[in-house]
Amino acid sequence: MKKLMAANWKMFKTGDEAHTTAGELVQRLKGSLPDDREALIIPPFTALTRVRDAISKTPGVFLGAQNFYPEEQGAYTGEIAPKMLLDAGCVFALAGHSERRHIMGESSEFVGQKVAFGLSSGLKMILCVGEKLEERKAGNVEKILKEQLEKGLKDVPGDTSPEDLSIAYEPVWAIGTGEVAGPEEIVHAHGFVRQTLKQIFPNQGTDIRILYGGSVKPENCAAIIGLDNVEGVLVGGASLKADSFSSIVTA
Ligand code: PEP
Repeated sequence: MKKLMAANWKMFKTGDEAHTTAGELVQRLKGSLPDDREALIIPPFTALTRVRDAISKTPGVFLGAQNFYPEEQGAYTGEIAPKMLLDAGCVFALAGHSERRHIMGESSEFVGQKVAFGLSSGLKMILCVGEKLEERKAGNVEKILKEQLEKGLKDVPGDTSPEDLSIAYEPVWAIGTGEVAGPEEIVHAHGFVRQTLKQIFPNQGTDIRILYGGSVKPENCAAIIGLDNVEGVLVGGASLKADSFSSIVTA
């Protein structure tokens, strides 16, 4: 499967700004997107359709959403439903990003509801998992990853296609800090995620993509993407500029 190079724009960019950056990115990637890569842009909700228009008809470049509420529709003020995201052109969605777990207080159980509901609605889901610094220091990396994976994937059907589900390993201490995890830490965590995926999905666990996220930049991306069990990256800060993210996508 192709490596998935994802840009999480978080709560940055107006519609115009997002449209401009996505347009620049498409120009830079035209003719230079490697055959084994696909790019994903995950802008704020208000910029989704602007980015959709900027990337339309660009093979290998997709649109994604940062979040949704796991219901079809209803009285959920301030929330957005998967079918609205599909309508806006989204193909992928995130669940369990550390900012939602630790700032908005989302539990692993709620994240699991979103993963299952998103898949059943037709979105390709990226489940984010990762330990906090104190959890790493206490020797609990595997315990945390196991809990977040088991709860996050609890209601995912056993015959889910590996195309539709990815995991992003994002150590919380490496997100937005400039402190990237070392190669041994990444290989160990991704190996553990792979082993757990094979237990949960005996048929497809080997093929589900595992992305790394946490201070990925143009300078460190090639080394990270070459590590065992790394089939993509999820990038925050360094994805906000087209030149920087296009260097990452083609690294
Ligand atoms: C992220 O937002 O998922 C992320 C990894 O951010 P950054 O690349 O800025 O660390």
